[in-house]
Amino acid sequence: MKFIIFIFLILGCVVWFSATSPIFKIDAPRIMESFNPRLGQPGSSNSGGETMGDVVKKKNEKFQEMFYPPLNRMDISSGFGMRRDPIANRREQKMQMHNGIDLRADIGTPVFATRSGVVVNGVEHREGHRVITHRFRRDQVGHHVIVRHEDGYHSYYFHLSRIEVKVGDVVNHQTLLGFSGNSGESTAPHLCFRISNGFNVDGSIRYVDPMYKLRHYLAEQSLNRRDGGVRR
Ligand SMILES: [Zn+2]
Repeated sequence: MKFIIFIFLILGCVVWFSATSPIFKIDAPRIMESFNPRLGQPGSSNSGGETMGDVVKKKNEKFQEMFYPPLNRMDISSGFGMRRDPIANRREQKMQMHNGIDLRADIGTPVFATRSGVVVNGVEHREGHRVITHRFRRDQVGHHVIVRHEDGYHSYYFHLSRIEVKVGDVVNHQTLLGFSGNSGESTAPHLCFRISNGFNVDGSIRYVDPMYKLRHYLAEQSLNRRDGGVRR
């Protein structure tokens, strides 16, 4: 009998030891890192304690933060790219780059931020020690809001009738920025929506096609519709 108790005691010690000892702990992410050649050597990151796993995780988080449509209903009247100058009566009809998309919207349509960020009054561009701030003229783009996003992106909301945020406000994709309108150089009530990412070599703002950025949202919406079995 004593012998059996002794055996149980020994077994208990072994179980306890294996549960607490670091030798038996498996660090799955680290093992994955050491097997994934694209991530380099584990712990080789030079950004102070940040493992490659952390970097990848952060990248994935950013990828997951989608750009949401600025209006609840998207009705595009003019897309991104070259077009004829819409203010044709005042200027000769020359081709011009349209740096955003125009969305038809009655005056007073709620305008939301496309993504989380901070409201700014201009876009700062650093050239060495110099900081150049790009601002927009109210006689051209009307009442407007600019949001700076975390990873070099900015979003722009032009021709508003009313603004509900101020510079420095932290916003997300559910924040009401203001209401659409017809202010500035505008031929009909609409929202001009732009997205930029960094700067061109000449220092000008590098705009990207907002529809390209909204593709994740639009793809998800179409998937939801398919999964929900709702057909219209
Ligand atoms: Zn526009």
